[in-house]
Amino acid sequence: MQFHLNGFHTGDPAVAAGPAGDVPPDFTVLPAEVDVLIVGCGPAGLTLAAQLAAFPEISTRIVDQKAGPLELGQADGIACRTIEMFQAFGFAERVLKESYWVNEVAFWKPDQARPENIARHGRIQDVEDGLSEFPHVILNQARVHDFFLDVMRNAPTRLEPSYSRRLLDLQIDTTGGADDGVPSHPVAVRLERLDPGHEGEVETVRARYVVGCDGARSAVRKSIGRALHGDSANQAWGVMDVLAVTDFPDVRLKALIQSAGEGSILIIPREGGYLIRIYVELNKLNENERVASRNFGVEHLIAATRRILHPYSFEVREVAWWSVYEIGQRLCDKFDDVPADRLDRRLPCVFIAGDACHTHSPKAGQGMNVSMQDSFNLGWKLAAVLRGRARPDLLHSYSAERQAIANELIEFDREWAKMLSAPLKSSASDAEGVDPREVQDYFVKHGRYTAGTATRYGRSLLTGDTAHERLARGFPVGARFHSAPVVRLADARPMQLGHLAEADGRWRLYAFADRTDPAGTSSRLRALCEHLANAPSSPILRFRQPNDEIDSVIDLRAITQQGHRELALEAMPELLLPCKGRLGLRDYEKIFCADVGSDLDIFDMRGIDRDEGCIVVVRPDQYVSCVLPLDGYAELSSFFAGFMRGEGGMS
Ligand code: FAD
Repeated sequence: MQFHLNGFHTGDPAVAAGPAGDVPPDFTVLPAEVDVLIVGCGPAGLTLAAQLAAFPEISTRIVDQKAGPLELGQADGIACRTIEMFQAFGFAERVLKESYWVNEVAFWKPDQARPENIARHGRIQDVEDGLSEFPHVILNQARVHDFFLDVMRNAPTRLEPSYSRRLLDLQIDTTGGADDGVPSHPVAVRLERLDPGHEGEVETVRARYVVGCDGARSAVRKSIGRALHGDSANQAWGVMDVLAVTDFPDVRLKALIQSAGEGSILIIPREGGYLIRIYVELNKLNENERVASRNFGVEHLIAATRRILHPYSFEVREVAWWSVYEIGQRLCDKFDDVPADRLDRRLPCVFIAGDACHTHSPKAGQGMNVSMQDSFNLGWKLAAVLRGRARPDLLHSYSAERQAIANELIEFDREWAKMLSAPLKSSASDAEGVDPREVQDYFVKHGRYTAGTATRYGRSLLTGDTAHERLARGFPVGARFHSAPVVRLADARPMQLGHLAEADGRWRLYAFADRTDPAGTSSRLRALCEHLANAPSSPILRFRQPNDEIDSVIDLRAITQQGHRELALEAMPELLLPCKGRLGLRDYEKIFCADVGSDLDIFDMRGIDRDEGCIVVVRPDQYVSCVLPLDGYAELSSFFAGFMRGEGGMS
């Protein structure tokens, strides 16, 4: 973490300098106009708010119909990929400290000799080795919300949610004037106040952009005439968070238990060492029947758990939270307000994210994770457009990218949920039933989906072709930047390269050097630095605005093949030791070295071509846009020119 750039400051460095005079706006009052209005303080809304809170020049408000923050329940599975994102927001360590780590999964099925009893038939590692530097963890959704709320509070805008506001509807003025390509507050939103003393009062806020993160029954989605399509699968699962006493031995492991005739349960150990979550398969619902009509109570869930766990005992001492949940994999065909046949004529100004545009069963732990990834994708794009750094048509890419990913994940979730609800195979010829071994195999095979690392964006303005992918086989184009260890040259600090990425809207260029010492004139890395520092076509110079630091828009980092004791810091290219800030201080954190001689050399781990080196271009949301040769100057310039704006907002 870097701080003191513009002068020495005491206090918590995580708290950014606040607004002028450090008087934040009164968030109980909504202004008549805002740049971005976010509806819903779930994981999707809070991820977006935390991202936009970093930009004081953007006025953002987030509203929720609830009177205050979530305290209990809902989702709890946090995928490896999500913690990589939390690292960028600065709270991965807090999550790792508090959470339960899912290291292994146990599978139970009916005992062959006595089928009324269950018996363990498998125990496997949860996440394949090397998939991420982070584990898969379990933590109450409410704590994730707390961490995002802290990020917002500590950001320069000191952003807080405006609670007790229910969105009634919104209207889009498609004829409205546009200044500089960005529509001027075309969305009129009507909100009803629900707080004591103001009940029933209706406020109107005009916004440049509205983002509906308002859950599965989204009013924003309805207001733009979109609907979720898919099935509700007529299957209900109960979920309870309990403190219980049991002699079931795998109660501190994630355990999938399939009984002979009583259905299945999924045990998820929770943070803190004592709490457990149990998902219980309930009876199939009739067609069009809603789960509420069945009057399921927590006692049904406890009784079913007891039957399935036989011969083990199970005694609940306290119920912390419970709910009944219907499985339904549903998806919206587009995640913004622009009809598919008008992409070339209209710019989006209303978006939907999270459960508002896709719903998943809780079994694969996708809901909360995918929802946050949606708005992480949208956040930097909105910020870039509003700050005049990217052309507004970039915003079309949000729906295009995230709808395709949601579609893929729903297919996976549908298959997985079906397997978990299917009866056990009665014989080899039973086509309806499922063999517990098949369930285990499916889980192993699709581990990358549950880990959140399977996402791969297709070719677009933001995702280049694969022509040079051979230069860095471990960084597939379109996939998330897969971190690996390095050693910082200036202070010999071992660290993860991927942890340099912060949720600050900046692009990262990771320049992997060829074999030559970057001090020498034949170094291709040195030549790249000279080009980027001087050539008029350099994207670092071209897309920099008057008060920007050299790395404000595109942040160049170099990784050398030599160990950190083999290089002379003072001989490194000047661009990698830039002087910045009010005091012109030198930034020593741009050059990294391979961990030479260990089996964790990044050049080997990620398959970097040692003779040629390469540039890996990484988006602000940590996905690889393209891999280019170190001298691919023209390709680098034209990639950024495809969507960015230079000084004065011109492309
Ligand atoms: P949400 O978390 O649903 O957040 C939407 C927010 O919008 C809410 O705070 C809501 O108050 C607000 N809102 C809605 N309408 C309006 C309006 N008109 N005006 C203003 N505000 C509005 N997932 C699991 O994996 N396991 C589980 O056990 C599980 N249980 C769940 C239980 C419940 C009761 C719910 C609702 C969800 C559960 N989920 C579970 C799903 C998981 O929580 C979601 O996938 C995840 O929260 C999606 O995040 P989101 O931000 O898109 O929406």
